[in-house]
Order: sequence, then structure tokens, then C-alpha cells
Amino acid sequence: MRNTFFAFVALFCLATFPLFGQPVEFIVLQMNDVYEIAPLEGGKAGGLARVATVRQELLKENPNVITVLAGDFLSPSFLGTMRFENEAGEQEKIAGLQMIETLNAMGLDYVTFGNHEFDIKDPDVLAKRIAQSDFQWTVCNAQRVMADGQKRPFRQGGASIPPYILHPIKGENGQEITVGILGVVLPFNQIEYVDYAPVNEAFAATLKELSPQADFVMGITHLNVDEDEALAAAVPGVPLFTGGHEHANLSRYVGTTRITKADANAKTVYVHRVKVDPDCGMVSVNSTLRTIDDSIADEPKTLAVVNKWLDRAFEVMEGMGYEPEKEVLRLNETLVCKESAVRTSQTNFGQLTLAALEDAMPGADVYFINSGTMRLDDNLDGLVTEYDVLRTYPFGGKVVRVSLTGKVLQRALETGLMTNYGEGGYFQVRQVDPTTLTVKGEVIDPGKSYSVVLPEFVARGLEANLDFLGQYYDGSGPDDLKVGEDTVRNDIRDLVIHYMLKIGEY
Ligand SMILES: [Zn+2]
Repeated sequence: MRNTFFAFVALFCLATFPLFGQPVEFIVLQMNDVYEIAPLEGGKAGGLARVATVRQELLKENPNVITVLAGDFLSPSFLGTMRFENEAGEQEKIAGLQMIETLNAMGLDYVTFGNHEFDIKDPDVLAKRIAQSDFQWTVCNAQRVMADGQKRPFRQGGASIPPYILHPIKGENGQEITVGILGVVLPFNQIEYVDYAPVNEAFAATLKELSPQADFVMGITHLNVDEDEALAAAVPGVPLFTGGHEHANLSRYVGTTRITKADANAKTVYVHRVKVDPDCGMVSVNSTLRTIDDSIADEPKTLAVVNKWLDRAFEVMEGMGYEPEKEVLRLNETLVCKESAVRTSQTNFGQLTLAALEDAMPGADVYFINSGTMRLDDNLDGLVTEYDVLRTYPFGGKVVRVSLTGKVLQRALETGLMTNYGEGGYFQVRQVDPTTLTVKGEVIDPGKSYSVVLPEFVARGLEANLDFLGQYYDGSGPDDLKVGEDTVRNDIRDLVIHYMLKIGEY
């Protein structure tokens, strides 16, 4: 990139390479969208101690390994919602600390923000997590909005988080190159302490400053893939976007830009073997997707950190009466709980949840939940454990029955299915047509009384735009429910677990 005689020298390189060319080789190890430190699917898939082993193997192949995580890792997770006693002896929300400590042990070099990093409501807690990172954060289009309204870069280690990184690499024969890395995040999470600059403009301006200083440039892009493609088209010439936000692996080309995303929760990682000829600027990127499964040994140092947090989590879960490793459902189809799906459409996991509610409270006219109850932001395959249920509904909560007039029910359904579309207040519904809003095939009668089963959180009027529901609930939701022969604690997690055990497979 820095060579202004690129075209001329490239011809020279083509003529002489590989006889005389001495490219510098390095490896980029890419993860994205990792919420779980331990393996999932009954221990089969993912696990950061296994990724650490892969990293160690790559380091033996080539000492120049750059490990990146393309955003979304501090939230959501069941562990993250719990508290622990910090060094000052205070109760502190875990809020991603388990991820920071595990990634520190694993050996990570660079991250950018994902939208879920801004799930942390208190900017000082996020600042603390950034400060606890041994790895470097970078972002070119997000700034912190201070209490006085001023915009400043987020900070790490007493310095501003930079819009780009210059990473020096020394080749086998002593040749030196510089890898330029810039991070970008989609403006999805509209929390008041973050200000976003437009993605393409910020990226282009940063690249303009970065390019003359680097032999190879890569983006860490936490964007929708269509935004990645638009960015690659608008700002061409960056050979590699290590992307995030999507949870299923993909690889696409736009011009000479390759966009890659690995599977969420480190079920796979991308390994990019890069060659750069510093004399002529020629680059090649050879990318392979590596599955992370139980054929890979755990790296002991990382495993020790994972187990420390897992022991703590299991202690809490067992204290709540759960058996986290217990298998409760065998899946024949994928249960869909990606946020982008569950907040915009009726998904099978939403329907399964509502079936569990109907099983526990039969005979109602309508069942609905706010999709924000379901925080997994991932899909489930294979075996479902109690831990999977807990991380799907990390906040739990009672389910209650209320009586609403048709007029109020109509307003609630319009709000939950239309006004709240795309948000956590979007409804998953049962016995309601989500398009026509008919109930059991009939138009809602405004004067009639309807029996409705819903989460107590929504019944109390605490969901967005649904505060009017609060006046119809008297707070009398029972602590336990009789479900068949069993007495089950009235918590959506217990009701779902009970129902999953009853049906056995789905
Ligand atoms: Zn995301």
C-alpha cells in the first residue's frame, strides 16, 4: 500500500517471485460473537480453552499470530447477570468480567466493540472492563458521550482507544512490515453514552490516515453482512474484513475484499494465513474455517480460569435449585433465538416457550411473552441442558393470568406486534394471528373479557409502551403452580424445563 510505484514494482515482483521474493508471513486467528467461555452442546462445541490450544499450535507454526475478536462478548450471558464479591469486598455485577479474564488467559490481541458491549448500562462499568483487558481495543466510529454532553474517545490504560492499530511484524529473514488494523461497529445499540459516526465515512477517513503507514490493512468489522458489503464497495482495497454480528460462518468477496465471519461462541474460528511482499506490496490471504470441538485438548491455563468462573456459576445455579448439566430436551430441529429473529418474527423457540406456559396454565384465550425475556441471541442445536434454559431466560420471572377487555387486549397486541417490532417488547404470541390479530380465528370483541397469560414483568406494565397494562394486574401471581402431578416453581425457566422434560424431544 505504501509503495507509490506499486504497478511498476508489482510487475517486477511477478517476474521474480517466488525465486527472489521474500514475503513476510503471518497468521490472523479470528473469533466473533463469543458469549460463552465453556463448550456448549453437552461439551461438544466451542470452548475458549480449546481456542487457546489452537492458538498455541499456530504460534508453533509461525510466531507471528494476531488474534482478534470482532465484537460482542461482554454480554449477554447468564454468568454476566450474576454478582460477585470484588477486591474491595463489594457485591459487583460480573458484567463480562468472566470473558475478560478468560480472553486475557487465552491470549488475545485486538477487539472492537460490538453492539452487545453497550448492553452494559453503566459506562463506568464498561470502562472498568476495558481497563481490565490485557488486549487492545480499537474503534474508528464510536465515542463516549460524557455527562456534560462532550464526546471523547473511550479510554484504555490512561490513553484514548485508538481508531486504528499499527502492528509491526518481523519476517523470518529479518524483513519488517506493518499491519494496520481498524475497528468499526454498527450503530445498533442506541444507549445515551455512545455516539456513532457514520460507518463508511469514518472508515474511509481512518483508512486514508492509516494506509500510508501500513503494508497490509485489515478491518475488524462488527456490522451486518450487507453493511460489510456496502463498506467494501464504498471503500475498496482492504484485503480482509474479519467480521462479527452474524452468528453463522460465512465468507464473501466484494471486489478484492474478503469478508469472513466465524460461528458464534467459538464453535468455529477463522485462520487466515497472510503473505505480504514488503518490496512490492503484493499480498495473499489464505483463509480456512477451523471447527472447535472435543477433539481439541484444553489449554490448561485458560481452562483454570474458565473452571473458576464455571464453578462459581454452577454454585449459584445449584443454589437456585437447578442442575445446569442436566439434559432436558433432544432437538430434531434448530431452536431459533437469534435476537434479529425473535424480535421481528414468531420463532419456534418462542412457540415452545408459550406451549410450556399453556401446559402450566391451560385454558387461557391468549398467551404472549415479550421477546426480550429470551436473551440467548443464538440458536440451539443437539441437546438442551438446564444451563441453556438459564442462559436463554437469564432474568427468569413469574408468569401470571390476567383478565383484559377485548379493547385493552387489542391495544396490547398492536403494541407488542407492531409498535415494538424489532425491540425486546415485541411479542411471541399463541392463539393469536400475528398479522390479523384475530384470537383463535375470531376478530377481537372489544366488550368481551379475555383470559391472558403473560410474564409478570409485562403485566406490571414494565415493558416498553405497555405501561397501561399495569392497572389490570393486582400482583397476586402465585409462587408455585400445579402442573399435572407436579408442583413447579412459578418461574418461566422452571416451567420451560418442566415442559421440555415432559415432551423429551422437539
Ligand atoms: Zn452484534
